[in-house]
Amino acid sequence: MYLFLSLALLWNIMKFTICLLLLCVSVVVLSIPVTKPTKNQCGYQACTGTDPDALNVHIVAHSHDDVGWLKTVDQYYYGTNSSIQFAGVQYIIDSVVMALQKNPERKFIQVESAFLRKWWLEQTEDKRQEFINLINNGQLEIVGGAWSMNDEAAVHYQSTIDQFTFGLKYVHDILGECGRPKIGWQIDPFGHTREMASIFAQLGFDAFFFARLDWRDKGERLKTKTAEMLWRGSASLKDDTFVFTHALYNHYSPPPSFYFDVLSNDDPLIPDTTSTEYNLANKVKDFTDFVNKQARNYSTNNIIITMGNDFTYQDAHYSFKNLDILIKAYRDNIQRDYQGRRINLLYSTPGCYIKAVNEDAERNNISFQVKTDDFIPYASDYHTYWSGYYTSRPTQKRFERQGNNLLQVTKQLTALSGKKATELDKNLFDLKSAMGIMQHHDAITGTEKQHVAQDYARIVMKAFDKSHKTVNEALPIILSKDGQQVHLNFESCLLANVSHCEASQKKRFVVTIHNPLSRKVSQYVRLPVDSDRFTITGPQGETVKWQTTPSIDNFNLPNIQSSRFDLVFLAEDLPPLGLKSYYVVNENFGKQPKDITPSNSFTLGDDEKIQVQINSNTGFMHAATLNGLTLPVRQELMYYIGAQGNNMVFENRSSGAYIFRPDPKNPTAKPFTESLIETTKIYKGDLVDEAHQTFNDWNKQIIRVYKKENHVEFDWLVGPIDISDNQSREIISRFTTNLNHETFLTDSNGRELITRRNDYRATYNYSKEEAVAGNYYPVTSGISIIDEQKAVELAVLTDRAQGGASLSMGELELMVHRRLLKDDAFGVGEALNETEFGKGMVARGQLYLTFGSNVPTGNSGYTRRKQREIAQRKLLAPWVFVANAESSENSLENLQNSFKFEFAGLKRPLPDDVQILTLEHWDADTVLLRLEHILEQHENANNVTVDLNDLFTTFKIESLVETTLGANHRLEDDVRLQWKVGGCLAALTDCGQMPPRTPAKKNADDPSSLQIRLKPMEIRTFKAKVTFN
Ligand SMILES: [Zn+2]
Repeated sequence: MYLFLSLALLWNIMKFTICLLLLCVSVVVLSIPVTKPTKNQCGYQACTGTDPDALNVHIVAHSHDDVGWLKTVDQYYYGTNSSIQFAGVQYIIDSVVMALQKNPERKFIQVESAFLRKWWLEQTEDKRQEFINLINNGQLEIVGGAWSMNDEAAVHYQSTIDQFTFGLKYVHDILGECGRPKIGWQIDPFGHTREMASIFAQLGFDAFFFARLDWRDKGERLKTKTAEMLWRGSASLKDDTFVFTHALYNHYSPPPSFYFDVLSNDDPLIPDTTSTEYNLANKVKDFTDFVNKQARNYSTNNIIITMGNDFTYQDAHYSFKNLDILIKAYRDNIQRDYQGRRINLLYSTPGCYIKAVNEDAERNNISFQVKTDDFIPYASDYHTYWSGYYTSRPTQKRFERQGNNLLQVTKQLTALSGKKATELDKNLFDLKSAMGIMQHHDAITGTEKQHVAQDYARIVMKAFDKSHKTVNEALPIILSKDGQQVHLNFESCLLANVSHCEASQKKRFVVTIHNPLSRKVSQYVRLPVDSDRFTITGPQGETVKWQTTPSIDNFNLPNIQSSRFDLVFLAEDLPPLGLKSYYVVNENFGKQPKDITPSNSFTLGDDEKIQVQINSNTGFMHAATLNGLTLPVRQELMYYIGAQGNNMVFENRSSGAYIFRPDPKNPTAKPFTESLIETTKIYKGDLVDEAHQTFNDWNKQIIRVYKKENHVEFDWLVGPIDISDNQSREIISRFTTNLNHETFLTDSNGRELITRRNDYRATYNYSKEEAVAGNYYPVTSGISIIDEQKAVELAVLTDRAQGGASLSMGELELMVHRRLLKDDAFGVGEALNETEFGKGMVARGQLYLTFGSNVPTGNSGYTRRKQREIAQRKLLAPWVFVANAESSENSLENLQNSFKFEFAGLKRPLPDDVQILTLEHWDADTVLLRLEHILEQHENANNVTVDLNDLFTTFKIESLVETTLGANHRLEDDVRLQWKVGGCLAALTDCGQMPPRTPAKKNADDPSSLQIRLKPMEIRTFKAKVTFN
């Protein structure tokens, strides 16, 4: 009995165990990956194998995490301020790591390094190792990897390269080689520039993905299977800048009703057939329908399904559990696509998708067409052109540009300061980070909520303060004579644009100017002052000529004492990467200064070298003389009335932070006034002549002619924009000439120029519903027109990113400021109505007009070369530090004994056509050095060789390692995927071939000789081992 019982019990136990084992087996089968990655098999080696005979559906789990938008960067990271948006990046990374560990098939991508760093700092060593393990086995892929997902229209290439360098270095420092990204991920920016494609190619990336392109363009591309293409990013570098480009099918979202996330209301998948909630079979059918629809538009046997949205995966288990069920359903029951191929669902990454596309293209001899222009401007429907953000928040756009200027200056000073560089560099972290954040596609674009804009300003301002610590440690090292103590505190006059600078309002002060360019530069220095008599002593003890001019406005700001005058003097021949100091004594300190008397003349400038004529009847500018040429040029400030609609249908779209749309009933720009004659005052002097013009009580400008310059300056002051009649207003500066031209040119992120033609797109049929907004383009540094018959090119250069157009023959305009009363319904939920001190925001800035011969004869008359020179001098302007010198130890005599009034970082200037793009401390004995050729091939440019031997004054270069553009990979190890060219998109005849990228070819010259050859538009990046003097 006992035995029987025992046997029966034993049988029961055995049955149970077998069941358990079976169950276990099925569970194990579920989680065994198709190809199990071994340790440190990251990158393409870690990709799950695809089936050449199937349609491979790459499920890419991702979260789009804005580095600030509706909430601030920190609010998004920590998840505070949930009433605005339920979003916390810390939970996303936490829960993704846990979810990936549960099933080694699962994959995920991490994009923004600014967020990764915040998370990393808070982790234990164990948690960090878990993250590294997931990187090493390919479950986690770093994509993009820059500090933020940068905008493409308003950013400058220097800052884009910087923020990639910064992010990629950080990723490499914490994750090693397996963390190196190979794929760009620009899924949200509102339009895409050719320069960005060029940058991706030079970073060594194999491809990049994006989502937003003109709706007509997208339709045609899907129809013709050209949503995957090869983009040639540079007209000068040509075949070296091919990058495979993928336009996503369904934005960056999951297919409709497959959005499995705690943020979504879509039903989860229910595989239990006995449940009343069972839905798997129908869901699979819907998914197959979607897959079929998408697959018809792409040319290989792979498609990518983006499974994510903004701030998804805060509870990653929720999403991954459903994706596991979906993938298993396709394994359990074979589904077929419209061609009868098995549908093979797999967890994948953008990198693994690209690898599979590349393999299938190779196998089946599939080629891709070449694009050579850009995806600008972006339109999402007939009336919705995303050309407003080119100008939105103009003061923020300028602050960002100043941030870059100061960053380059402080990086140079740090690198030049010798052995203490490592220490000084630590204080620069904040500015590098702040500039990375500012490149984000809701930061520099001005498309964030107002409280977020204020937080960005706080971040940048804090970083400015910290980098001034670096300045005040570096300058004494560089400028002290024989190690003597320097008692000066160097400040930047950041409020000079409202005529305030504490240091220059003192009795005695020292002005120290750093020239970040690699050649000598002369700069007119302007400082707010309250006096009419000065003595300025230059670096050689010479007396320096000066002039005062009236301030543009009395400003009347609370707690800010604005000065009545600007002190102007010429800092001549500032040395390359060098400094000069000037000692200024206010001789009438504390005395009431005399008013400056206006002139009766209507001419600015003394001779034919540079002149501006003001019309004596109207007060408007009507002609200018530059470079031996006189042209009729009228200039005025004008405005558009912005559309205000309910956004319910396309026709009712409002002009908003993203969108520019003039009022459809009233779409043309209007003048503020018919005559300026009563309100124009002209002031003349030895150094500068100015016409002060008041268009109305909130629109003023100074037209300025510096006697030794080759451009005319327009110093505009706009705001508070009048909205008392409930109209949205957008202010422009318009230049009207007699030039004839069919096209105009705008720069691509401050680098190469792209030809634009009104009401025309090269690669798709364009409909002309918006005559103004549809012809607006981003201007990062300049816009120009060429009259071939007169052989004249005329350009207007900017001091920040702005929108610009040439709507009629002979005309150029730039939008300088906007104040809008309606939101445009793309998520911000606020009208772009910036205020300050209880009034509308006032913005001030400058435009620079130049013109001359368009014939690139190579002689000094060629205007394009001058344009580039001016653009560089504005982007990397000599930075003015001012230090109070009232104390007795800072008397002129004492300083002349203890302080060098002049310093050059370079022993000789570089040739005119090349420039040090980056000089930055890298580690103890290494500096990062980037050289660039600043001309395009057709600008009569030649190859230039830079001799780095004995070039720098404070260190000597021992050896060089050339790297990819982001400095995270040796160039000689850079191997990229190869693609076959299948002809040119649009009416092009020669769009090149992708060359086999053999490092030897790129490295034709030998860096060990320190003779570096640069082709037109080429940038070469080196890590240089140095010894300090
Ligand atoms: Zn975004």
